[in-house]
Order: sequence, then C-alpha cells, then structure tokens
Amino acid sequence: MVISKALTIAGSDSGGGAGIQADLKTFQMLDVFGMSAITAVTAQNTLGVHGIYDIPLEGIEKQIQAILSDLGADAAKTGMLSQPEVIELVADCIRKAGLRRLVVDPVMVSKGGARLLAENAQDALRQKLLPLAAVVTPNIPEAEVITGMTVSSLEDMKQAAVRIVKELGASAAIVKGGHRSGDPTDVLYDGESFHLLTGERYETRHTHGTGCTFSAAICAELAKGKPLLEAAHTAKRFITLAIRHELGIGGGHGPTNHWA
Ligand code: PLP
Repeated sequence: MVISKALTIAGSDSGGGAGIQADLKTFQMLDVFGMSAITAVTAQNTLGVHGIYDIPLEGIEKQIQAILSDLGADAAKTGMLSQPEVIELVADCIRKAGLRRLVVDPVMVSKGGARLLAENAQDALRQKLLPLAAVVTPNIPEAEVITGMTVSSLEDMKQAAVRIVKELGASAAIVKGGHRSGDPTDVLYDGESFHLLTGERYETRHTHGTGCTFSAAICAELAKGKPLLEAAHTAKRFITLAIRHELGIGGGHGPTNHWA
C-alpha cells in the first residue's frame, strides 16, 4: 500500500475543533497519513480560548526534524505560529527540507477574538513564509492585514490575491469569501488566472475551525499529487459539507463535521 503523508505545523486546540486536531481529522478523512509539529498548546473549547502556552523553539524544531528525517512529508501546512521566531524557524526548516507543497493558512485571530499570531510577527509572515508557499489561504480580514488594502468586493479579493502572489512571492493565493454576505465565493489566483470556488451559505454558529479544515484538505490533496485547482475544489466541497452537517456540540461556536 502506498500512502501519502502530510504534516501540519500548527497549534493544538484542546476542544478538538480547530488547529492540529482539525488538520489530522481532515487528513484521515481524505486518506492521507497525518503528522504534526505542535507550535503552541491552547486550552480551548467552543466558548473560547482560555490559555495559550507556546512550545519552546527547540521543541518545535525537534518535532519537525524527527518527522522529516524519517517519515518525510509529501506536503505540509502551517496554522497558528504565534511568534515571529517560530515563523523564522519553520521557514528555515521548510526551505532546508526543500518542501515545495506548502499550504500557509495565515492564522491571526480566533473567531472569539483571541490573538493567535503576535502583531510583531506579521512582517516575518510576509517576508519569510509567504515566498515559500504553494498557496496561501487568508480570509478577508487576514488578506487585509497581509496586503494593507481594504477588501470588500470580489474585485478587491482578486486584487489582494494578485498582490500576495506578485508582490509577496507566494505561488498562489485563495482569498476566502466567508466573511462577506451572500454566497461564500473564494478567489483563487495562481499567477496566471483567476478561478472562483463557489459554495452555498448555510447559517450556523458552528463554524469553529473552518479555516484549518479547508487548508488541511488542500494540503491532503496536494500530498496525493493533485494539482492545486483540483485540490482547492475538493477542499471547498469538503468544508461546505462539514459546515452543513454541523454536529451541534458545545455551548458556543462548535466544530464542523469532518465525517460529512
Ligand atoms: N485555535 C487554534 C489552535 C487554531 O489553529 C485556530 C485556527 O485558526 C483557531 C483556534 C481558530 O479557530 P476559529 O477562528 O475557526 O474559531
């Protein structure tokens, strides 16, 4: 049996809805062997983030080295990186390993408002990590921070995606439209053309971990060798179903349904 392998470098969500827990569940559902390097541990449930405990740099580096020196990874993704030093370390490891199928989910703030990336880490994200990305998957607020522009229309989303590719050096960008009203259309720009990822909106408060799940699904498909556009469409279908078939657990913003 030949199995594809994917690595997530991200934070832990004790509540199981976002972070590495969401990533590993997504990898499993898409028939990819999942591995993780944990950057920070959060004490978290559907009501919010109650504590953040950063893992020492040495511990992060050792996890990545242990994985890459033995098992190897066909693709990787990054999620919560917390501090500028973590971004620099992770970028260094990815570059040295020559890992080209890298999905960067530029996690900044949780839906409940907890800061998951230090404000002084935004430059490191732009300068060190984005140039290594096969694709970057910002939501609209993240795209605004990354590009410095206001993003409200579909045209703005296209322009932000172009900036992320042409000015910041990512190979492709998907600006996600879930924060706009109406149907949640995402814009993919691959340096040559635009593609729209369409889906129907389903009204629910249970959307915790949607960004993690979407980027993990892209990573899983890239690990299998699928081209980016196909991977992005599969991921969009996966997250649309995961939201629609909500589990309804927890008293706050519950997780999506990875079995959907
Ligand atoms: N906690 C961790 C560890 C995460 O990586 C993320 C991902 O973005 C979140 C929380 C945020 O989850 P959400 O904003 O979907 O509630």
